Amino acid sequence: MKIREDFLPMNRPSITDAEIEAVVRCMKSGWITTGRECSSFEQMFCRLTGAPSALSLSSATAGMHILLQAIGIGPGDEVITPSLTFASTVNMISLCGAKPVFVDVEYGTLNIDPDRIEEKVTDRTRAVIPVHFAGAPADMDRIMAVAGKYGLAVIEDAAHAVGTYYKGVHAGGFGHPAIFSFHPIKNITTAEGGMITLSGNELERRLRLMRFHGIERDAWKRYGKGSNPEYDISAPGFKYNLTDMQAALGTVQLSRMEEMNGRRRLLARIYHDELDGVDGIDLPEVPPYPHVHARHLFVLKIAAMRRDLFMSRLSDYNIGYGLHFPAAHLLDYVKRRFGTEKGMLENTERAAERIISLPLFPDMHEEDVLYVCNAVKEIIGEG
Ligand SMILES: *Cc1c(COP(=O)(O)O)cnc(C)c1O
Repeated sequence: MKIREDFLPMNRPSITDAEIEAVVRCMKSGWITTGRECSSFEQMFCRLTGAPSALSLSSATAGMHILLQAIGIGPGDEVITPSLTFASTVNMISLCGAKPVFVDVEYGTLNIDPDRIEEKVTDRTRAVIPVHFAGAPADMDRIMAVAGKYGLAVIEDAAHAVGTYYKGVHAGGFGHPAIFSFHPIKNITTAEGGMITLSGNELERRLRLMRFHGIERDAWKRYGKGSNPEYDISAPGFKYNLTDMQAALGTVQLSRMEEMNGRRRLLARIYHDELDGVDGIDLPEVPPYPHVHARHLFVLKIAAMRRDLFMSRLSDYNIGYGLHFPAAHLLDYVKRRFGTEKGMLENTERAAERIISLPLFPDMHEEDVLYVCNAVKEIIGEG
């Protein structure tokens, strides 16, 4: 086949004139940091997820950090998470002084295996953090049943899950906290940014303080007409707020989410149809329960040949790729600090050696998917 001349990236954010105009409008308004745009972005998120409260943040990682601290995770505590997740989760658990305890995933969906959670629960376990991998919802009913039995907090890592529904409920709408990410690779973007959805007034109050220096009121309430510029702190906090310029971008992105995710679903279906039955690759499986898949990533598993060879051949075809994710329990720091090692998590390790994320983004064309599929078939045929 003929090699394309331009590089096809794994991902590219979809930014239209509407986003650009919204950001410019904000820049001209005289208020560019946390304010009304952030509030309306948060309200849109409440409507999407059904959660009573939402807090916008500088990143999902920031959200995980203050959430773990706000629910009191600290030294001596254990937090259950899949190993097939982004390093940021493990970093935040470590930085809180707690220990990540890794549970194996299902090879097909790459979601946490609910049957393997209970065996990892000890009297130090405090929380479980399922990831809705690639936009496929984890089995929340079964995860919440185990969590309920042992009194564990549940935090959904919904970084891949804007537009993900489990049995009719959007991620973040189950009554426990969830974190979302708006990094440019995710389904909607604010360049950098994140959101916590939650219910519960006391937790919300604490998170608001921790998001902004521990100060009771946000800056825009201190600088408005007739407001009181004094402040007091009740506890030290971080500086994790989102800006109105970013929220203006996010608001338009969120209004386009169904359209953009629809494109993702269509392109993912072409991948499935074209690659179904090709020997030597394992296609991503979808969960058996009712759900809406956000199609954040299209993660193939290469069983027939060495992945590094496969990747270098993709480069020859001018195709970008990603790796979501290296197994966290085999990262150098994690091994040294927590004594994890190869052989602990069978499905995770088998998957982690094989996974590769193919290009998938709303502005990608159908012909681009066909091009990638033909390249994959040629490479596998050679392999
Ligand atoms: C992207 C991602 C995060 C972190 O999001 P940031 O907004 O970049 O902090 C966390 N978990 C998973 C699974 C992710 O993919």
